[in-house]
Amino acid sequence: MSKYRHLFGPVNSRRLGLSLGVDLAPFKYCSLNCVYCEVQRTTDLLVERAEYIEIDGVLAELDKALAQKPHLDYITFSGAGEPTLNSGIGRVIQHIKTHYPEYKLALLTNGTLLYDKQLRDEVIPCDLILPSLDAASQASFEKINRPHPQLKVETLIQSLTDLRREYQGQIWLEVFIIQGISDVPEELEALIAAIEQIKPDLVQLNALDRPGAEEWVQAAPPELLHSIQRLFSARLTMPVEVIAKAALPVLQPVSDDFISQIRAVLLRRPCTAEDLSVTLGTHINEVSKILRELNLQGKLSVKREARGVFYLWKE
Ligand code: SF4
Repeated sequence: MSKYRHLFGPVNSRRLGLSLGVDLAPFKYCSLNCVYCEVQRTTDLLVERAEYIEIDGVLAELDKALAQKPHLDYITFSGAGEPTLNSGIGRVIQHIKTHYPEYKLALLTNGTLLYDKQLRDEVIPCDLILPSLDAASQASFEKINRPHPQLKVETLIQSLTDLRREYQGQIWLEVFIIQGISDVPEELEALIAAIEQIKPDLVQLNALDRPGAEEWVQAAPPELLHSIQRLFSARLTMPVEVIAKAALPVLQPVSDDFISQIRAVLLRRPCTAEDLSVTLGTHINEVSKILRELNLQGKLSVKREARGVFYLWKE
């Protein structure tokens, strides 16, 4: 779907199956600047909601893509920025639910703007909301998520609790584990208390599987993820699973032709994920997924420069 500017995929996603992505925020407009962000550092750290991407254009693309009645498991709001920053997200949700009720809607969000009741009302028609909560103390929230100065983790936890009370659909809470910060006993205890208060339907533990925004962030080893899973499962009332790819069998079939195109570029010059996305006319999220896969397979060498993380094909 590279002919679209605001849609990407459908991509085969581990959590959502075949998912058509809808990008509502410009590249790296986000309310957080997470140290593990696989895109890159946030360029525009914001909490003001506005129509950063014109909604009429998004709706026109959706009408075109959905007119062909593609088979999809989900239409997903995600992308390389925070989708709820777009003040028009409610219009897009309403449009899809009115004109294409056969499709399920998922929202991937960092959750930080859900303190706004109007936003919570706007997202209620979604079938699945996947918010993040990586820390339960303000100190760890600032270390891991480097939020906009107005954001407090306490407010985030309360907003997710309010959402749970108001929303009948599924909430899958993602917790990104950073070794040395999230795995200290006080932080784990605070997370357990916060999650039990929020009461999501499912908790998903994630960890880095390709270079994040900051070099010091290392992948949490599978043993650590599984031990936190055991601890959480024993203490929480909802299921807890590990979704970090490094701790799971590799899947994600990608066409050989596309891999050859990536290889051809990366043999000639090191590129960031964004460079590759522009060169190959493919959405950054798709490129990111494939780079993660290739990196896990040991096919890439990785170098961090001022402009971002550069990949080169290893011969
Ligand atoms: S990981 Fe998500 S929430 Fe964090 S900086 Fe990246 S885009 Fe924003």
